[in-house]
Amino acid sequence: RQGSAPDYLKGLNEEQRLAVETIDGPVLVLAGAGTGKTRVLTTRIAHILSLGRAFPSQILAVTFTNKAAREMKQRVGLLVGEAVEGMPWLGTFHSIGVKMLRRHAELAGLRSDFTILDTDDVIRLIKQLIQAEGLDDKRWPARQFAMMIDGWKNKGLGPSEIPEGDARAFANGKGRQLYQAYQDRLKTLNACDFGDLLCHPIRIFRGNPDVLKEYHKRFKYILVDEYQDTNTAQYMWLRLLAQETGAPGQKNVCCVGDDDQSIYGWRGAEVDNILRFDKDFPGAVVIRLERNYRSTAHILGAASHLIAHNEGRLGKTLFTEKVEDDDSRVNVHAAWDSEEEARAVGEEIETAQRKGHKLNDMAILVRASFQMREFEDRFVTLGLNYRVIGGPRFYERQEIRDAMAYFRVVAQPADDLAFERIVNVPKRGLGEAAVRQVHDTARALRIPMLEAASNLAESDELKPKPRAALREVAANFERWQKALDNTPHTELAETILEESGYTDMWKNDRSAEAPGRLENLKELIRSMEEYESLRSFLEHVALVMDSEKNEDLDAVNIMTLHSAKGLEFETVFLPGWEEGLFPHQRSLDEGGRSGLEEERRLAYVGVTRAKKNLHIWFVSNRRIHGLWQSTIPSRFLDELPEAHVEVAEAGNSYGGYGGGSFAGGRGGRQNPYGASRFDNVGQDSGSFSNTYATPGWQRAQANRNEATDRNWGSRSGHAVERI
Ligand code: ATP
Ligand code: MG
Repeated sequence: RQGSAPDYLKGLNEEQRLAVETIDGPVLVLAGAGTGKTRVLTTRIAHILSLGRAFPSQILAVTFTNKAAREMKQRVGLLVGEAVEGMPWLGTFHSIGVKMLRRHAELAGLRSDFTILDTDDVIRLIKQLIQAEGLDDKRWPARQFAMMIDGWKNKGLGPSEIPEGDARAFANGKGRQLYQAYQDRLKTLNACDFGDLLCHPIRIFRGNPDVLKEYHKRFKYILVDEYQDTNTAQYMWLRLLAQETGAPGQKNVCCVGDDDQSIYGWRGAEVDNILRFDKDFPGAVVIRLERNYRSTAHILGAASHLIAHNEGRLGKTLFTEKVEDDDSRVNVHAAWDSEEEARAVGEEIETAQRKGHKLNDMAILVRASFQMREFEDRFVTLGLNYRVIGGPRFYERQEIRDAMAYFRVVAQPADDLAFERIVNVPKRGLGEAAVRQVHDTARALRIPMLEAASNLAESDELKPKPRAALREVAANFERWQKALDNTPHTELAETILEESGYTDMWKNDRSAEAPGRLENLKELIRSMEEYESLRSFLEHVALVMDSEKNEDLDAVNIMTLHSAKGLEFETVFLPGWEEGLFPHQRSLDEGGRSGLEEERRLAYVGVTRAKKNLHIWFVSNRRIHGLWQSTIPSRFLDELPEAHVEVAEAGNSYGGYGGGSFAGGRGGRQNPYGASRFDNVGQDSGSFSNTYATPGWQRAQANRNEATDRNWGSRSGHAVERI
């Protein structure tokens, strides 16, 4: 290979090439959006493989989202072909964590077939514990405690390690005790939550040096994308693994990231992790990339100016060799309300489609997930294909949860939460008392509820009717469990839903949603076909966060800004740039600079997703919880330099912009953030107001001062998004 470089190195610039070729020792690539960090990582993998420095199975490559993991796999696949199939350790923190934990489950007091609980299960479990303590679960909400536990686990803290103040803050000082009870209960259930997928391995590594050593030997190279968003637990996990890689004393770890794109501070991410990399790994080579290959000069200019308003940053230069042509200026549009906004975006998309643009190349990135519905509704009306990425998921629907609960009990008989969910669904005449008795028996004998049900069915402790019901339930599950290993899993799944009476329950249901639910159940069975077994399917669902739309379909992408990290699209729409929504009210309420700066980084992430066209929208009125609020354009709009921005023309099909002048006097509303050149945009369109100033709307306007709850699609909406 002397003389001419291999093909995969050819397109790289000098710094990128250095980052790819420096494969021994620690490397940090610290660079802005679109400079090729992810490309460096994938090329590096190709380079390591082609030099024969490691087998595919000896490379640990971590990304943040399932989608990013899939894309990385694809990109590596293009470079190295089939070899990528042999990379079991390429994935998200969670998917790799679960794989490790299954291998060493017994060291965490679990069996290797443990269940992964989702947020919903966790909250129900905690609620039981709070009640068992004799505490008022209204005063001490389970959801709140679930968030506290999540926070502790993000920091890698077990019950004995949490700060005294934290422990006192919940349930009259019973915080620590409850946390411990929760962990104990998980063990009994043979289950863990998402936080445990890293916390257990950390504890295992610390307590079992031989296990850790095995991984040190196994992994010759470690690579991490989006390093700026690692939280403390992820950081500890990585550090343990990266102490040595391959040969003794070697630390072949390469992290890439951008401090300006740190957007998960609210979930415990520590941007400091990236800043202290060279302290953690003395002798680290730090490489900066400055050429942006993704966006047009206008988009990049707008992004750079925007982020320059943040104080707490390392600062870096970015340039592009693309020419500034006026067509590619950032478009700012105003709309009267969000319905108008969705309609206008829909029109824009249809126009682009007619011009030959693919829907796949377009994305709508929202600040809060509640914003999605309006677009979804509009696109359904238009017959425009769309997919929601990382949004409220198919698997979270009631009928899907119920069906999954049946499958879980069949595959994992100790899964009491699943059992409780469906023991009386459909109704079998099992009252609360009967279920409680099953529960108590199970606790007393330390056996799974299913087993307890089977015992009770044979005793005379229950009345004949519930006893018969339990007998049938137990017999059903016994039969299905026996069939598990010798029946195709999709067939078994169908049988379970039929024999349990679950499908019939919806067939007999007269509500408007019932047909859709039956459709969803069919879709569920269809989706199982892609998996080898019921167990692998269950595991997939536990981990999945992306919506399961057909990837091949040409469709507009809808997602939150948080889940858009690392992605890029030809055309990007950023709706809802209004004070209170973006920056989000919550971050403003927190006071101080940091909340606002994180919002601005999020805006930077949004703007830098666009390759060619960027459309930003704001509306004058937004309805929140059914009440109208008049809004003020986001301060971030004013932070986009005029030279790179074009305000959409007045008098187009979907609304006027007050003659297109935005630099003049102020509108009726007072903008507390100082005069905005967007204050008047979209205000004086007569025909507009006439159409919309219906009596109903005026009533709503009058009420709007009462709408004090500005907690729109709150952050907790993201908290369940697994990254
Ligand atoms: P982000 O911070 O948003 O994650 P990034 O730094 O990871 O961005 P990439 O996604 O790797 O950037 O690259 C951005 C785009 O630029 C991609 O389309 C990539 O293929 C392209 N690109 C990167 N390096 C080069 C290069 N040397 N020549 C041509 N295109 C490149
Ligand atoms: Mg990237």
